[in-house]
Amino acid sequence: MQKYRDFPSLPMVPRSTLSQNLLVGITMFSFAMPFYLIVEITLYVICANNRYILPNRMPLEESNSVSSPDFRYDTIICLPFEQNTYIARRGDRADCVVIDPGLEPEKIIGHLERQALTPAAVLNTHGHGDHIGGNAALKQRWPECPVVIGTRDAEKLTDPQKNLSAGFGISLVSPPADATVEDGDVYESAGLKFKVLAIPGHSIGHVVFLHEGGAAAIAFVGDVIFSGSIGRTDFPDGDHRQLVSGIHSKLFTLSDDTILLPGHGPATTVGEEKRSNPYAGL
Ligand SMILES: [Zn+2]
Repeated sequence: MQKYRDFPSLPMVPRSTLSQNLLVGITMFSFAMPFYLIVEITLYVICANNRYILPNRMPLEESNSVSSPDFRYDTIICLPFEQNTYIARRGDRADCVVIDPGLEPEKIIGHLERQALTPAAVLNTHGHGDHIGGNAALKQRWPECPVVIGTRDAEKLTDPQKNLSAGFGISLVSPPADATVEDGDVYESAGLKFKVLAIPGHSIGHVVFLHEGGAAAIAFVGDVIFSGSIGRTDFPDGDHRQLVSGIHSKLFTLSDDTILLPGHGPATTVGEEKRSNPYAGL
C-alpha cells in the first residue's frame, strides 16, 4: 500500500542504542517527576480558590477599582454561564441594587446576608434566563424588592421559551415585573440614580443602566457589549445592525472613561472598546 512504501527504507537502529535511549529517558523522567509534582501541587493550591476548580468558592471582587462613598459594586460570577451579577450600592447605606441576579442565587443571597445588605430593587438588563435566574429566590427572600426590566422584555420573565431557558432544559420563570422602564427613564433606588438606555439587538427589550453620579460613570451593559466582543444576535428577536447602531449612538457617545460592566467577562471602558472592539464597527 502507498502509505507503507517508505517503511522498509527507515534506517535500522541498533538495539544497544534503543536500550540506552530508554535508560536516559527513565533517568530524565525520574529527575523531572519531583519538579512536575511541585508545579502541579502549586497550581492546585492556586486554583483551589478559583471558580474553574471549585465553583462554590468563586471569587468575589469585593474591592473594585471604583469604590467610593458615592458608589461601589461587587461582582458575583454565576455558573454555568459565567454570568456577572452585580451588587451596586452607596458606601454609606445598607440597601443596594442587584443587577441581573443569575443562576446561583444562593451565592448572591449569601453575599448580601454576609454584608448585611438589603436589596431595594432587582434590575434586569434583559430577560434571558441566565440574567433572571435568581429573581425568584431574591423575591422569595425579600418579597418587597421590586423586579424591574425593559418594557419589551417583560414577557420573557414568565415565558421559558422566550427567555431561552427551555432550550437548556431548565424551564425557568421569574416573578412578573413590578415595574418596567423605557429609554430615557431615570430609575432611582437605594440612593442611586440609573439612566435607562434602550439598546435592542441582542434582545428586543434590552436596556443599559447608566450611573453617572460617582467618581466615574458606570454602565451595566448586560449582553450589549463585552470586552472585545458584542452580544449574540442570532435569536428570534435579535438584530445585528440594530445592536451595533445602538452601541454607537448610545454607548460610544459617552465619555471614554465610562466603565462598562458586561453580563459576562471582565469590565472595560468606552474608550477601550472604541479603539479595539472588532465587532463594534458598522
Ligand atoms: Zn442575553
